[in-house]
Amino acid sequence: MSASEYDVIIIGAGPVGENVADRIVQGGLTAAIVESELVGGECSYWACMPTKALLRDAAALRAARSVPGAAAAITGTLDVAAVLARRDRFASNWSDDGQVAWLNSAGITLVRGHGRITGPRTVTTTDADGQVTTLTARHAVVVSTGTSAAVPRIPGLTDSRPWTSREAVAADHLPDRLTIIGGGVVGTEMATAYSALGASVTLIARDGVLPNVEPYAAEYVISSLIESGARVMLGASPTRVRRDSDGTVHVEFDDGQTVVSDELLVATGRKPNTADLGLEHVGLPASSWLTVDDTLRVLDASGSPIGDGWLYAVGDVNRRALLTHQGKYQARAAGDVIVARATGAAVDASAWGRHAATADERAVPQVIFTDPEIAAVGHTSASAAKAGLRARSVEYDLGAVAGAALYADDYTGRASILIDDDANTIVGFTAVGPDVTELVHAATIAIAGEVPLDRLWHAVPAYPTISEVWLRLLETAGR
Ligand SMILES: Cc1cc2nc3c(=O)[nH]c(=O)nc-3n(C[C@H](O)[C@H](O)[C@H](O)COP(=O)(O)OP(=O)(O)OC[C@H]3O[C@@H](n4cnc5c(N)ncnc54)[C@H](O)[C@@H]3O)c2cc1C
Repeated sequence: MSASEYDVIIIGAGPVGENVADRIVQGGLTAAIVESELVGGECSYWACMPTKALLRDAAALRAARSVPGAAAAITGTLDVAAVLARRDRFASNWSDDGQVAWLNSAGITLVRGHGRITGPRTVTTTDADGQVTTLTARHAVVVSTGTSAAVPRIPGLTDSRPWTSREAVAADHLPDRLTIIGGGVVGTEMATAYSALGASVTLIARDGVLPNVEPYAAEYVISSLIESGARVMLGASPTRVRRDSDGTVHVEFDDGQTVVSDELLVATGRKPNTADLGLEHVGLPASSWLTVDDTLRVLDASGSPIGDGWLYAVGDVNRRALLTHQGKYQARAAGDVIVARATGAAVDASAWGRHAATADERAVPQVIFTDPEIAAVGHTSASAAKAGLRARSVEYDLGAVAGAALYADDYTGRASILIDDDANTIVGFTAVGPDVTELVHAATIAIAGEVPLDRLWHAVPAYPTISEVWLRLLETAGR
């Protein structure tokens, strides 16, 4: 048993933990980061990077097919082995050597092992050989342990050895038939990827496909999945699952239907990695999401910071926005506020202040890499109504924009903005269509910057680009 002291201890070296540690050392404090698997976390090896690599070749092929001259040059189909090899490269072949080298160069101490909170400002780690180390933090402990796939309780499901996102993302072969339970982002992106690679896909979407985006955008994705040959079962809920000795997986439904496939992917949501984190030592229930204030300090049941405010939770584990870029934004706020509090510098925790993660509530951008892609930021009509906002939706046909028509023959897509007439600003943006991904940042700036519509009118989109939809949306809104 050994012991060490640092200014800040971070549990979990995913993208978010790494960014907290970086801000801490850049602020002149010392940091140790504890990691039980690979430095770089879910995002680098089993989520963002490899999934987008799996989807990219098919998107490039679609783009080429949509203009006749390039389409004429296409002589074959996707090379699945090459797609998987490129995916491997983007997952760094599941080696974290590069990220460990970066930690070393940044002056961050890496402690390999499983970390548990064992008292105020105290973390105990256990490595693969059972070696136990006690780390003490002078100022703060940051939990950035992320999430894992949640597997629902369906009789027979666990015994059927289903894939979670990890196995689907890292697979070394293509099953002939893939059934996916879950119509959220992971389910639909994997349905898009595997269908394009040549698998026969069935998507079971009990709660609908992409229920958290504007319904018109989800409709485009459903139609395209069906057109590509996938089967989409909306509102269907499996009652039993079994894997037979020949390896086939059978998913049964109430109405007597059975879907048979070679692999089954469960993509029904995430659970926080807090089951074995020692939360009982800070009076919180094990396995719970960690609720935080806007400076990312963990709150107890009464809404007060734990202890004197030494415990922080950043990234997926606080459930504010399960996205890498948003977690890294929180990491910058948390790292900087920990340094400020430790050094007695001024803290600006007001809305949009340097130390507050205000954008988490107002302007979270997301791109869903389906066919077609969806880009969205801020409210949807449904979430605005839920928040009590009087927001007016204005939509425009993206296919009628010159830049989109040039981009692809028969371009189909749609975009919308949500206008808060009381504030005279935009509070939401959604676009669906080929390659709308890069449109999202303009919308993020408009929403986070609370740019008044009168001024937005002067942000002239370049001709002929897909961004010209901004002008058309504002004209449609009555400018
Ligand atoms: C299939 C899929 C695709 C995705 N695609 C995108 C995308 O395109 N864009 C996007 O923005 N987001 C995407 N996400 C979400 C993104 O992966 C997460 O938001 C992001 O990884 C969260 O980062 P994190 O650092 O909070 O947690 P993680 O990346 O989960 O990292 C947490 C780390 O903590 C470690 N850890 C956990 N418990 C302990 C412990 N007790 N002791 C020591 N170490 C511990 C884990 O091993 C892990 O390395 C995707 C998610 C999935 C599942």
